[in-house]
Amino acid sequence: MFGNNVPLGIEAHDGSVLKVNEVFATLQGEGPYAGRPAVFVRLSGCNLSCSFCDTEFDDYQEMHIAELIGKIKDLATGKLVIITGGEPFRQNIVDFCELLVADGYEVQIETNGLLYRPINKKVTVVCSPKNTGKGYATVRPDLLGHAIAIKFIVSASDENYRDIAEVGQSSHNIPVYIQPMDEYNQDKNAANVEHAIMLARKYSDRYEVVFSLQQHKIIGLR
Ligand code: SF4
Repeated sequence: MFGNNVPLGIEAHDGSVLKVNEVFATLQGEGPYAGRPAVFVRLSGCNLSCSFCDTEFDDYQEMHIAELIGKIKDLATGKLVIITGGEPFRQNIVDFCELLVADGYEVQIETNGLLYRPINKKVTVVCSPKNTGKGYATVRPDLLGHAIAIKFIVSASDENYRDIAEVGQSSHNIPVYIQPMDEYNQDKNAANVEHAIMLARKYSDRYEVVFSLQQHKIIGLR
């Protein structure tokens, strides 16, 4: 896929069956839970098609959420479940989250911040807003209430991603993560790291800033 996907809208269904791209155990590689063992549930499809997207999420199999939780239990070495995509809020994940929380799992959702479902209060969100060429949209207030990090992907050469923006993080004192874009080019990536460091310094008096790397790529994990 890598940015050539077809943007998909919200799916209308009761949430008992989800379109699942993959389920796997690994270490969380980035963001506030970096380094923690987790089971990743990657849901199919996204409402955006970013040119730098590094995730394959088009294929899927339909799984009942009871079957999905059984698979998580088989894989789990800890109690952290990351629901990601694509864009996980495209699908009705409300009941899935409820069951996970009831089973004692910590649940973190990774989202681009444009969609929302009324998820359990204990579920945390890492929001990585995207600039689709018209600037960054403000993150929905209902989503901001769950957000423990706003993660900006930055690039030294992509004009849409040269800077970060106020998308609502100040209103909730949400830490800002600044992460260099992976452009699959050694020189560009080196420039992106320098650029991210510069931005982290620049904004450190305005926000609680964390410089973030995709650790899983450095150590060869998925
Ligand atoms: S929002 Fe994320 S998952 Fe969706 S296309 Fe953009 S980078 Fe890929």
